[in-house]
Amino acid sequence: MKAMVLNKPGTPLEWTDLPDRQPSAGEVRVKVLACGVCRTDLHVVDGELPDPKSPIIPGHEIIGRIDAIGQCVTGLTLGERVGIPWLGHTCGVCPYCEANRENLCDAPLFTGYTRDGGFATAVIADARFAFPLGETGSDVSLAPLLCAGLIGWRSLKIAGDGKRLGIYGFGAAGHIVAQVARWQGREVYAFTRPGDTGTQVFAQSLGVAWAGGSDEMPPEPLDAAIIYATVGDLVPVALKAVQKGGRVVCAGIHMSDIPSFPYRILWEERQLLSVANLTREDGIEFLGLVPKMGIVVKTTTYPLQQANKALEDLRAGRFDGAAVLVP
Ligand SMILES: [Zn+2]
Ligand SMILES: [Zn+2]
Repeated sequence: MKAMVLNKPGTPLEWTDLPDRQPSAGEVRVKVLACGVCRTDLHVVDGELPDPKSPIIPGHEIIGRIDAIGQCVTGLTLGERVGIPWLGHTCGVCPYCEANRENLCDAPLFTGYTRDGGFATAVIADARFAFPLGETGSDVSLAPLLCAGLIGWRSLKIAGDGKRLGIYGFGAAGHIVAQVARWQGREVYAFTRPGDTGTQVFAQSLGVAWAGGSDEMPPEPLDAAIIYATVGDLVPVALKAVQKGGRVVCAGIHMSDIPSFPYRILWEERQLLSVANLTREDGIEFLGLVPKMGIVVKTTTYPLQQANKALEDLRAGRFDGAAVLVP
């Protein structure tokens, strides 16, 4: 197999020949067809997350086909198309796993961070965390749903059922969640980097009620806001934009420091929450709804060997929607 490998944080990924691995008991080997590029991959590459596997193959929005099955695997067949998400393994026995909160497992493995991911021609996955996808939808358009879509779905649920929803950071997750929220009958308010009129026009094309810079206040107070941007300064900004009893959800794995803010913008039962990872239940629920919601995922594809360029373009905000690598 071949892979784009991160040998050391802060250095470019390197195109590498690796021996083919056989799946152990409970695992499958998946031939990768497409793998999305997520902001979390940038955090891994930049060394902003603690204790990564090293060297590591990044990538956790994987679409592929099973080409080898280990012992004790049930319910999956050779050739079946599956999606492999960020949460790659849970222990099954810790208090969180037992309480149906496996997203907070005490001994998890994360695809593309603490176990090898999908910036490769093949990946070994825990069979329990390979979602059967069926044959509807293209590999490239499905890939971003595996993280941007799934974590987006979880963050949307945690934001509650308020009608007016703000989205700060209108990238891969933002543009998917905006469409889900519209399908649910909500009004979406899209906040981009100040002056990024291109992304504001893109948001409007998806039917949002309003689009503007994150330095602007929405025309109406929001019931909830989700922050996908990694900018801690947006937390007090979003708290000011939500009305009494409103929620602000931080959906990223990493954020710059949050500045201090006056207590009065939190008071009146506003809530500030974070979202971590996903559960398999989130995955099954969301992927089951995808065919009904009619989501159009905007993608820019890159050959696998150009993963470094895709990461740099993501960092610089050079495309709308999501980047996807194709081996
Ligand atoms: Zn656990
Ligand atoms: Zn991700």
